[in-house]
Amino acid sequence: MDASFKLCSICRKPIGFGEIWWSCSVSTCNRGKTALYFCSVDCVDAHAPTLRHRTYYAEEQRAPTREAFLKAREEEAERESAREQARRDKNAESRRRIVQLHTSSNQEAEREILVIASRLKSYIRERSGMNTSDGILEKLSDHLRALADIGMESAASEGRKTVLARDIPDL
Ligand SMILES: [Zn+2]
Ligand SMILES: [Zn+2]
Repeated sequence: MDASFKLCSICRKPIGFGEIWWSCSVSTCNRGKTALYFCSVDCVDAHAPTLRHRTYYAEEQRAPTREAFLKAREEEAERESAREQARRDKNAESRRRIVQLHTSSNQEAEREILVIASRLKSYIRERSGMNTSDGILEKLSDHLRALADIGMESAASEGRKTVLARDIPDL
């Protein structure tokens, strides 16, 4: 699998480690994963008409040694796993913050009424003519807190700092 550095983009001939290869001078032929590699100037010439290059020239390059190539790939893999670990740490961190929120929030905040009593009472009166006991304000507030907690966990699990409507479960 690592027998050669690249295959020629035109004739598929292998370009060996430490060998000369040719690139096209056009910048779009040298971009990341779609970069082109040529075994010869003839192969550079062969690709130019298909990409409608007006001006271009072949640039001589030297393939890295096998050791340098493998080392660079290993370093890239290490950077990638470091990035992956950082993402995991960040998620764990935001989850931890929510757990702290659960356990350390003071009693006052826990008992705070989150609904507007007068609006709720008039809603119930208008719909049904019924009166409203103050006890339901507390109970509904507990329900709102529970739904908000679920929303925070959902947002944190996707690495967001904003709770969106879709984080709140449907009834
Ligand atoms: Zn070729
Ligand atoms: Zn080109």
